[in-house]
Formats: sequence, structure tokens, C-alpha cells
Amino acid sequence: MSELEEFRILGLSEEMLRAISAKGFETPSPIQKLAIPALLSRTSDLIAQAQTGTGKTAAFGLPLLERLEPVRGAVQALILVPTRELALQVTEELLSFNYKKLSIAPIYGGASMSEQLRRLKRGIDIVVGTPGRILDHIGRETLDLHAMRYLVLDEADEMLNMGFIDDVEAIMSHMPDDRRVMLFSATMPDRVASLAQRYMHETEVLSVPSQQMTAELTDQIYFEVRESDKFDALTRIVDVEPEFYGIVFCRTKVGVDELVSRMLERGYSVEGLHGDVSQAQREQILRKFKRRQVNILVATDVAARGIDVNNLSHVINYSLPQDTESYVHRIGRTGRAGNQGTAITFISPSEFRQFGMLKREVKADIKREQLPSVQDVIAIKRAKLQDDLREVIESGNHTEYQGMAEEILTRYSAPEALSALLRLAFKNELSESHYPEIRSINVDRRGKTRIFMAIGRSDGFDARKLVDLLKRECELPDSKIDDVRLMDRFSFVTVPFNEAERVVRRLNAISRGHHPLAEVARDNRPEGSSGHREEGTERGFRKRKTSENMPRGGTLRGGAERSSRGRSAVSRGRKSSTPKRRGRK
Ligand code: AMP
Repeated sequence: MSELEEFRILGLSEEMLRAISAKGFETPSPIQKLAIPALLSRTSDLIAQAQTGTGKTAAFGLPLLERLEPVRGAVQALILVPTRELALQVTEELLSFNYKKLSIAPIYGGASMSEQLRRLKRGIDIVVGTPGRILDHIGRETLDLHAMRYLVLDEADEMLNMGFIDDVEAIMSHMPDDRRVMLFSATMPDRVASLAQRYMHETEVLSVPSQQMTAELTDQIYFEVRESDKFDALTRIVDVEPEFYGIVFCRTKVGVDELVSRMLERGYSVEGLHGDVSQAQREQILRKFKRRQVNILVATDVAARGIDVNNLSHVINYSLPQDTESYVHRIGRTGRAGNQGTAITFISPSEFRQFGMLKREVKADIKREQLPSVQDVIAIKRAKLQDDLREVIESGNHTEYQGMAEEILTRYSAPEALSALLRLAFKNELSESHYPEIRSINVDRRGKTRIFMAIGRSDGFDARKLVDLLKRECELPDSKIDDVRLMDRFSFVTVPFNEAERVVRRLNAISRGHHPLAEVARDNRPEGSSGHREEGTERGFRKRKTSENMPRGGTLRGGAERSSRGRSAVSRGRKSSTPKRRGRK
């Protein structure tokens, strides 16, 4: 288990190291390196500057799981998160390291109260909850905090943005005095800082230094894709790039293995490298890769360290790296010796925020591009086929089949026989219907965004008053306010995309920290963030309280970068000449 040494020196147990290894992590992320020893070996409260995507859940989760023993009585640790989506994500991440079999459960608004009551009655060691629902349970005395030893405030700034900060404060006022608080926040607005001051004792502040780095020479682009579409996106890129010779980076060993087996299944020439690959295998794989016997290498950051391969045509960030430094290392492998390489990053909705930070730190311009279309892929494959055909005919390397061909042609017409042979050789690879659709996750490309507001006619509004509110509070001119739709308890309005985030913030600020007033409506959100549906009934909007189910407004940020160019640019800067059969075996 020597490759887990960096985790071991943080003070984690052998059982936990086994769980980490099974999960496929190889090295701790920067925030994990700081937070894990602080939480395991010291006692002070903690303020950590970290956001989703940096490994913060394991940063607080691993020490919690090490320090607690299963009791299944009163709650021992409470993790407050801004959205139910995050509640589920955090619970899932904790369960994946739960070697002691602690009872861990999410408690969030919108889910069945009776089921939550049953679970709470049976006893839960770690509750992961959204503030409103947790406060409800405290009020009903169904959540007993007297034994609570740890409180985690996850994404504290988002809880503030969503208007939950008063609820958080109310919850904190119910905590026993000798508990430990860990606050994680990407930014530190005054209100969050003052909360920390009032309710935290001796505090230790952890922050990963910002890494300003430059990465030039390489053409850097990104695609917005759902997690579940990443594989098809990758195959499209490899398929349209005749000279693809690249490394595809995954975060974990498990990720590498899964991707390699899916690619092999599809007939790509690919090898995988990670910490569990023996030295002998590693050398053999690298030899093959250097000789270009395989043209795709899938690797973790650790495994790719020290690989001395030049002139990669592509580096693909299948998952975002943990920090900016790794990003720069990864992409530094292309474009060496003055050659233009392309660094491609896939961004799923849950990676938007982290990517925003990365983009600020990497001083180069990372441009958003469109994935190659199915038509592009098929056109390239057809061209490849024509090219190969001409090559074989010109070389005369087919005479052994002459007799067989003539025999076939006695029974079938030439087009019939050839098309059947194409079908046998390519199955349905040259037909559009064979390719899964990759759905766009983009916000409205015309630059408009629909906003949901938890106010309606029953709050005394009509369309005019709503527009007045937006003009007054958000300083939006009439011309930027469109398509107001007013219902009894809620309403929708369309505003320019680049104003949407500000509008949502301003509206939520005037709701004075109660429940959020405004949110980006679901149809404008990337998938993965659960949200509201405009169509249909008022289900979910009956009571203002249910607005706790709202997703984070933060997802907007990542979508803000737009490119007017619609062209596919997997390899801008390089000419794609007549394709050779490189992508596939
Ligand atoms: P988080 O920032 O906690 O939302 O984590 C983002 C993703 O990174 C999750 O899928 C984690 O499982 C993964 N992750 C966290 N720590 C590591 C690590 N040390 N190595 C690889 N992946 C990690």
C-alpha cells in the first residue's frame, strides 16, 4: 500500500487507507493535506477555504469517520449543506469510506417527513442536512443535539447566498458548548465571518494558496458535457482526430480502469496507467505508447508523473484535476518543442464552480467549444474508409480475395454485395442512429435566462409591480425584462444571462436572509442541479418554506463563459489531412 503513503502520514488508520485505496484515490488533495491532520491531531475549530471539487468532503469526512464510533443514538455529527443535491452527494461520499458502519443519513426539505422521523428514531450518528429541515426537526424535538460533538458548515457562503444563514445561526445556538465546528467556504463574506466569530472558539484557518500559473503554447479548450456523456464525447474527439496521440486524465484508479475497459470494448487502441500497475507493466505500456502502438493512454496524475513523452497531440482532462498546478502539469505535456497541442477539458455541471476558479488562476485563455457532431464523425470515418480502400487497391494487396469476389458477384449485384460487406465490416458505425445523442447542457444560447421567484399574486404582485421591483432593486431597465409570468404563489421572468446571477443575489438579499426569493429556473440549469419546473402545477411552491429545495444559484457562474463560434475545434491549429486509421485498432 506504499502508494498511499501520502495519506498515511496524515494520520489515517489502516482500515481507512484500505477504503481510500478501494475508492481509487492515490494522493490527498491540497485541502485534504491541510485539514486531515488538523482535524485528527488537534482540537481547535476550523475555517477552511475550499469549494466543491477540491476534495473537501473527504477533507472533513475522513477525520469525522475516524473519530466517531457507531452508537446509533443521539446525533454525534451534523453536516449542514445548502442544497439537497449536496446533501445526497456528501452522504454518498461519506458512505464510501464508512468502514466502521456508522449510521449516516441525509435529512433535507422536500423529502418525506415520516421516513426521516423513523430514521431519526432508530438513531443516526451523522446527519447531513439542509438548514430549514434541520431547524424544523429541532423545533419538533425530533432531532436531539445534546450529544453532538461536530458541526460542519459546508459551503457556508452558499448557505448565505441562499438565505439560510439565520437558520444556520439558530441551529448553532442549539449546539452544546463543547463541540467542534468546521466551516468550509469558497469565499468569506462578512456575515459568514461574523458567524464564525460568534460561535467558534479557538480557530485554525486553513487555506490552499492560490496558484497563479501560466500555461501557454497549448491550445486550451473546454466542452460542457454531462458526466454520463463524457465517454461518448471522448470517442467523438478521438474519432475526428486522425492523428490522435494523447493522454486522458482521470482522477482515480477506478476511473482509469473503467474508462480503459469501455474504450477497449469499442475497439480503441488504449492502455491505462495508475498506481496499481507494476513497474514492469508500466515500462511495457510506456514503450508501446512511445512507439505509438497504442495512441491513447488513460492515466491518473500520479501515474503520469515522470512520463517522458513528447509531442502529444492531445491532453484530455476527463475529470478536472484537484488543483491548478496539476492542470498545468497535465497540459504541459502537449505542445512541446514548439508544436501546437490541444488541451481539452470536460466540464460537467458539478465541476463548473471549480473550473471557474481554475480559469482565474491559469492565466491563459481557455475557450469554450462545441463537440464534433455525429455528422462530422461519420464524414471523417467515411473519408478514412475511402482512403484505406484506395491504399489497398493501389497496393494490389487484395488479389487473394479476387476469386471469392467474383463468386459473390455471380449471385448479387455489386452495390448489394458491397453494402452487405460494409455492414459486416462496420456494423452500424457509419450510421447516425448508432451514435447516442449528447444533449446540450448550455444555458440559453441567445443570452437569456429564466428566473424563478417565490412571490406571486397572493403576495400582492401584478406584472407591473414585479417589473417595478426588478427595476428598483436590481437596477434593470425595462428593456432587459421580458416575458413575465405571474402565478398565485410564484412567478417567472426572463433577463439577460449575464445579469441573472446579480438579479438573483439582489432579490435574495432583500428577502433578508429568510428563504430565497429567486433562483434560476430549471430549464436554464445544467442537469445535475435539481431545480424548479416552470410548467405544470404549483407543486413544490405552495409554501415559501419549500423553497429550501432550491438548488444553488452558484451553478450559474460556470455557464457564464460563452463562445460565439459554433465550430467544432477539437484540434484547432492543426490541419486534419486525409485521415489514417489511427484512432482504432
Ligand atoms: P468534493 O470536492 O468533496 O466534492 O470532491 C470532488 C470529487 O473528487 C469527488 O468525486 C471525490 O470522490 C473526488 N476526490 C476527493 N478527494 C480525492 C483524491 N484525493 N483523489 C482523487 N479523487 C478525489
